[in-house]
Amino acid sequence: KKQTFHDYYVMNPRKFISITNGITHRRWLAVSNPGLTALLTETIGDGFLKDYTQFEKLMDYVNQEAFLEKFAAVKRQNKKRLAEYVYQTQGIVINEDSLFDVQAKRLHEYKRQLMKCLHILCLYDEIKAHPDKNFQPVTIFFAAKASPGYIRAKNIIRLINAVADLVNNDVDTKDFLTVVFIENYGVSSAECLIPAADISEQLSTAGLEASGTSNMKFMMNGAVTIGTMDGANVEISQRVGAENIFIFGADEAEIERMKAYQTYLPGELYEKNQAVRRAVGHLIDGILPVASPHQFSDLYQSLLFGKFGTPDPYFVLYDLPDYIRIFEKALAKYTEKPLDWYQTAAINTAKSGYFSSDRTILEYNDQIWHLTPVE
Ligand SMILES: *Cc1c(COP(=O)(O)O)cnc(C)c1O
Repeated sequence: KKQTFHDYYVMNPRKFISITNGITHRRWLAVSNPGLTALLTETIGDGFLKDYTQFEKLMDYVNQEAFLEKFAAVKRQNKKRLAEYVYQTQGIVINEDSLFDVQAKRLHEYKRQLMKCLHILCLYDEIKAHPDKNFQPVTIFFAAKASPGYIRAKNIIRLINAVADLVNNDVDTKDFLTVVFIENYGVSSAECLIPAADISEQLSTAGLEASGTSNMKFMMNGAVTIGTMDGANVEISQRVGAENIFIFGADEAEIERMKAYQTYLPGELYEKNQAVRRAVGHLIDGILPVASPHQFSDLYQSLLFGKFGTPDPYFVLYDLPDYIRIFEKALAKYTEKPLDWYQTAAINTAKSGYFSSDRTILEYNDQIWHLTPVE
């Protein structure tokens, strides 16, 4: 209404309505997560399968320790299943007791897999700086395909694999940090990956994600979101409440202001923040095991200098420090207050009914199609 189709909107405002996307909970819960489906059925009956409003019944149980322990046990089973899948398909051994942190979506600059890579390099530096300290083990999964002609996206996949080679093989970090790039991402691997996630990474630059649907699949399966105020993350946060989601970074208004007044100065942020400076430096300092020392200089340039005098339009370095802060907060909750963590996870499942595509289709019918439903 305000930008892309503004002229058309002014002529024809009635043509513009918005309907929140949904996902089918039959595939993304009943088929993909039989363990959680059985627990829900045992707890609230199986009515939720045909009537998405019944997910809310779960709210009566999220204060019961016995239920939360069962919820956690299902998550452990799903992590085990994913670990077996990754071993079978890629020969990688992962720690099933680590926190599973997942970013699964098309590879695109606006979705900021690059920011997650820089975060991992920050964690790497942090662990290297404290060789005698014990850290909560974390396994970070990326799953993504890049469009064949999208050269920078292909290079980010290279970077993910180089970062994985670095942290998975360093004696100081390998017990605490594992990075896995899931090959050949598609619906079948997503069905195994999503039910196993503790954290759902939704890192798009505010204003650029129309909706997102993996955010809905993850919440339904009891993953806690770390995300920007973008797309359907906004509605997820309204439904679960601010205490059950980890929101970070610039919102859309802030991004628009930085663009309008040209106040985004990545070079200054780089100078000011030592952790960021070190992580970005690793793109070109030779620490990453790749054939050419220049493999990632294009990414380095894009973060610091942008293109044709316009700074990085995805504001990676602007949001990175706040992302580092919120990830630490989420990690602390997971490690120090496991019961609170699983309560938050269960609240996410309980509030996910709204994101069933059944609701979406009913809204389409009410507002556009006006068909008579068939019983
Ligand atoms: C749900 C899904 C997507 C969409 O993911 P977003 O994070 O919402 O962009 C893409 N690919 C596969 C295989 C999916 O299952």
